Amino acid sequence: MDRVKLLAARYRAATDRPYFATALYALSIVPSAQVPTMGVDRHWRCYVSPAFVDATPVGELAAVWIHEVAHLLRDHHGRAGRLPPADQRDRARVNIAQDCEINDDLLADRLPLPAGRMEPRLFGLEPGRLFEEYVPALPPHDHLLDCGSGAHGRPSPWEVAGGAPVVGPVEAESLRRHTAEAMRAHRRGRGTLPEGWRRWAEQVLEPVVDWRQVLTGAVREAVAWAGGAVDYTYRRPSRRSAAMRGVVLPSLRRPLPRVAIVVDTSGSMGDDELAAALAEVTGVLREVGVHGNRVTVLACDADVHAVSRVTSADQVTLAGGGGTDMRVGIAAALAGPDRPNVVIVLTDGHTPWPAEPESCRLIAALIGLDAPPPPVWVETARVPR
Ligand SMILES: [Zn+2]
Repeated sequence: MDRVKLLAARYRAATDRPYFATALYALSIVPSAQVPTMGVDRHWRCYVSPAFVDATPVGELAAVWIHEVAHLLRDHHGRAGRLPPADQRDRARVNIAQDCEINDDLLADRLPLPAGRMEPRLFGLEPGRLFEEYVPALPPHDHLLDCGSGAHGRPSPWEVAGGAPVVGPVEAESLRRHTAEAMRAHRRGRGTLPEGWRRWAEQVLEPVVDWRQVLTGAVREAVAWAGGAVDYTYRRPSRRSAAMRGVVLPSLRRPLPRVAIVVDTSGSMGDDELAAALAEVTGVLREVGVHGNRVTVLACDADVHAVSRVTSADQVTLAGGGGTDMRVGIAAALAGPDRPNVVIVLTDGHTPWPAEPESCRLIAALIGLDAPPPPVWVETARVPR
């Protein structure tokens, strides 16, 4: 294999786009007559066809180097593993979608990719999307594209089996971070960066936490806390009794908590956002066994308009409009005959809050990333608009 040409191409890629240099040099080269052009595995081995090196000019080879390292930087194999199982099975389709995600940025960056490359516009798709969006949108195809398990996640026949990983997951993460920081420094020095890479670097450096996870965690924890208000009872003998030779021990009963959801229906809130947050909350509650008459939903703006018990989000009609005061809704929830242990408030945050912690757990799902924060004792999950 013409190693000199291949290394000259990597050198050119690293010189032209210095923020990729560290990641490019972390790749170890494995010559292979089986790999169609170039490909990567998840251990940062880069498989290279000697015939492809011979046939491709250095400038194009440099662009392919960046293409290959992009699969690894963008964690394509990790993300492919989170696709629905039916999508994962069609590895060529996944690979084409991933190439579309990478190549629109490389082309915007005027990198001379070889002919025959994939890009969104070939399939009538808009550039700038993530491959997860392209996978279901791709029309049927007969391309046989294989950039290796570092892309679609499934080992290709030409990959080295076993052996110690060249780059492990921890080092890979630090290479991603290093590259993202180098991209940020490049931009501060007024360098240009394609939109997809800019978003990628931002996400690596300041990951947006998934609000569903935060909300789910807070609700689960609060429900466990409320259920832990333990009640010793002698009604049922403990299973440990037998071993204790006739000593009757109290058994532990965990009462299911009551939950109130206070929904901000003032004019500033969008129905879609509220519906999504409400569906998420009721879904989490159902999972932990809190449903039916243990959940009360109150629609509230400056005044409580309706108190309704629901079992699913679509049973709630959003009413109201006008000023907002969630304190009214919280007070109404706590004043009812079945006092809740947990109150969850769905709001855009433009509301006064109770002056001090209530006797129940209070969780706020704040709609909109710019929503003003509630007092620190309110557990908070931010829901992007
Ligand atoms: Zn590829």
